[in-house]
Amino acid sequence: MTPRFHNIRRIGPVQVASFLSRGRNRHLAACTAPRCDFSAEYDSRSAAELAARTHRCSA
Ligand SMILES: [Zn+2]
Repeated sequence: MTPRFHNIRRIGPVQVASFLSRGRNRHLAACTAPRCDFSAEYDSRSAAELAARTHRCSA
């Protein structure tokens, strides 16, 4: 099943989205730059947004 993303927000090149996984809220930060493969999941929205804000793009 495809996760249903909500609260999608862009911070610089990084998109932050929240989704429900097995009944729990998870938070994803993923860089949209073509040659940057940064993406990570977090338990809290603030952690995901902090990671997005502090991401230094290698692309
Ligand atoms: Zn990046």
